[in-house]
Amino acid sequence: MESFDVVISGAGPTGTHLAYLLSKNGLSVLILEKKKVIGKSACSGLISTRLRTLVPLKKSVIEHVVFGATFHSKKASFSVEKSKPVAYVINRAAFDRELAAIAQKAGAQIHTGEPFEEYSLEGNCIIVNKKYSAKVLVGADGAGSTVRRLSGLEGKISFVNGIISIIEEPSGARTVDVFYGKSIAPGFFAWKIPRGKSTEYGLAAKRNHLQYFRKFLGMHGHKMAMFRSHPIVSGEQQTAGERVILLGDAALQVKPFSGGGVIYGLMCAKIAAKAISSAFKKNDFSKKFFQKNYDIVWKKKLQKPLMNGKMLRELLNALDDRELDTFFRFLDERKDALSSFGDMDFLQ
Ligand SMILES: Cc1cc2nc3c(=O)[nH]c(=O)nc-3n(C[C@H](O)[C@H](O)[C@H](O)COP(=O)(O)OP(=O)(O)OC[C@H]3O[C@@H](n4cnc5c(N)ncnc54)[C@H](O)[C@@H]3O)c2cc1C
Repeated sequence: MESFDVVISGAGPTGTHLAYLLSKNGLSVLILEKKKVIGKSACSGLISTRLRTLVPLKKSVIEHVVFGATFHSKKASFSVEKSKPVAYVINRAAFDRELAAIAQKAGAQIHTGEPFEEYSLEGNCIIVNKKYSAKVLVGADGAGSTVRRLSGLEGKISFVNGIISIIEEPSGARTVDVFYGKSIAPGFFAWKIPRGKSTEYGLAAKRNHLQYFRKFLGMHGHKMAMFRSHPIVSGEQQTAGERVILLGDAALQVKPFSGGGVIYGLMCAKIAAKAISSAFKKNDFSKKFFQKNYDIVWKKKLQKPLMNGKMLRELLNALDDRELDTFFRFLDERKDALSSFGDMDFLQ
């Protein structure tokens, strides 16, 4: 049996960034990744410029930068635009591989094509896949996390289905377009993102996402071609157990308003690294320790933006298409005041 300090399930950005931080702190880390090739393709990669403050960002993964967004209801629209870039449009798969390489350089091992399947608590360690022993197991295995399911940690999860298609339609537009309405994307929204050499059309909806996406593409003069689809999760989740923690989408560290999870997940990876490193110093891997030093800490940090994002999402979901038109006209008249609320990660 091979022995590690920490085993992480999932080589997404949250898992690999955590692996990097832990390896840098001198811990031995193994990541198990079920896919043979690292890199998520069902993600728009529209991420605030805050990203640069959290992880190293190579210029080559940035496809475009945007300065704001135009929000559309059926018959109204308003724009919020800044003078400086607010978000990068990155190549998500290339970004994931870059973070994985950084983790490996720091000493973490990554086994691709090897899924996390099961674990058991035995004495003072955790046995993973009957093959590896570790002091701590981290579930960074995404929206449908196997670690979350097997850990028995309680949660209340809701999800929408996201779907994107990248069309060879060069666009250097300064803003992304976001489309709301029960007749467009019930329970969420649709979007059009300029990617420099191409344009991404995307949508997430509570039901019939394929049907609504086909209609949305048609409205923009396109037919359904190659697409990628994946769930977007939100809700409340316990994220600390005996020798186990959940991170990223597995922990529902996702903005309820937009479904973006990269920034929150990376911020929480830093909190997780601190908690796990401190657990090794104190030789305390109990549920109580991880609750106090991880679960409570990240929830306190993200409590306000999560609550505000949830409220705004519920408000938009409650309005019918005509009410949305009225609301968006109202916002259009106040768009100067709105631009001061332009932080896409932390709704104040
Ligand atoms: C259509 C769509 C568009 C999105 N657009 C954006 C956006 O523009 N900006 C943004 O910030 N967020 C966006 N998101 C959300 C974003 O993709 C996630 O929040 C982010 O990927 C979470 O990172 P993660 O590391 O927690 O999980 P993931 O990136 O999902 O990584 C989890 C990894 O775990 C692996 N895995 C799963 N199960 C196992 C297992 N049993 N064993 C081993 N490995 C396993 C997976 O293969 C994967 O590599 C979007 C999501 C969707 C669906």
